[in-house]
Amino acid sequence: MSDLGPALPELPSSIAIRDVGPRDGLQPEEPVAVADRIALVHALVAAGVTRVEVAAFVSPKAVPAMAGAAEVVAGIERRAGITYAALVPNLRGAEMALAAGVDELTVTLSASPTYNRRNVNMEVDESVAVIATIVAAAGSTPVDAVVSCAFGSPYEDDVSPAVAVALGSRAADAGAARLTYADTTGMATPLRIAELHGALAGTIDDVGLHLHDTRGTALVNAYAALGLGFTRFDTAVGGLGGSPFAHGAGGNLATEELVALCDDLGVATGIDVEALVSAAALVEELVGRPVPSGVAHAGPRTRRSPSR
Ligand code: ZN
Repeated sequence: MSDLGPALPELPSSIAIRDVGPRDGLQPEEPVAVADRIALVHALVAAGVTRVEVAAFVSPKAVPAMAGAAEVVAGIERRAGITYAALVPNLRGAEMALAAGVDELTVTLSASPTYNRRNVNMEVDESVAVIATIVAAAGSTPVDAVVSCAFGSPYEDDVSPAVAVALGSRAADAGAARLTYADTTGMATPLRIAELHGALAGTIDDVGLHLHDTRGTALVNAYAALGLGFTRFDTAVGGLGGSPFAHGAGGNLATEELVALCDDLGVATGIDVEALVSAAALVEELVGRPVPSGVAHAGPRTRRSPSR
């Protein structure tokens, strides 16, 4: 990477992106039809996304936009080599997701006890126990434990990186195959990313980051993370998203913004940014308003025309 010049940190040669747009992105929106959610998944895969969180198997009363999760999964034209993941809050949701045939389960537990109660109506200890039961039910299907509020909570004092990492370790001990640290509240900064990296003590293989842009720091956090060697990211096409249970939560890091940055830096993502921009346009149609992502509107810097 010496051709990048001495001012830039050494960066990984490639990263893995999981697009959570059909789940996290659409979750706080007015419900979108099942067929349109399926079309969005297809558009992402066509753009080169190889991991997609396609649905959440949650109570449709609590999260109306996620109703019909099994229908979404059933309607997807599966492609080889693609991981179709679903968020599950509990064993019942996991059983439904497994019956629907997903390839990966994501389960959240929160470094904030109050958020955990509001999000999944459980104490943190209960959530760790639930992960063990989900892992047992999942068999060979991997479980990714997502530690939410890993950089701060809307309800309690600052979440120290040691607390977040300790909780991740408990989830790993409970059998989670992968860990993802989520900035649910958009409180992460490059400094906090570096502190988490320090608390992980170098064990960042298959540790993902799930970043939100609430305070405009999502992309700069991702850049800092790249420089520290993180290679797995959750993003959402168009930059939609946010938890309905974290007041003021902003959208996710936009997939096309991370891909455009990586393209420029020579970090491979396997994703075609122009095809992603088209997928973001589809998202705008589905939600009926402009998405927050800048690259969705201006295109990558390699596109000379100022508008599409
Ligand atoms: Zn999110």
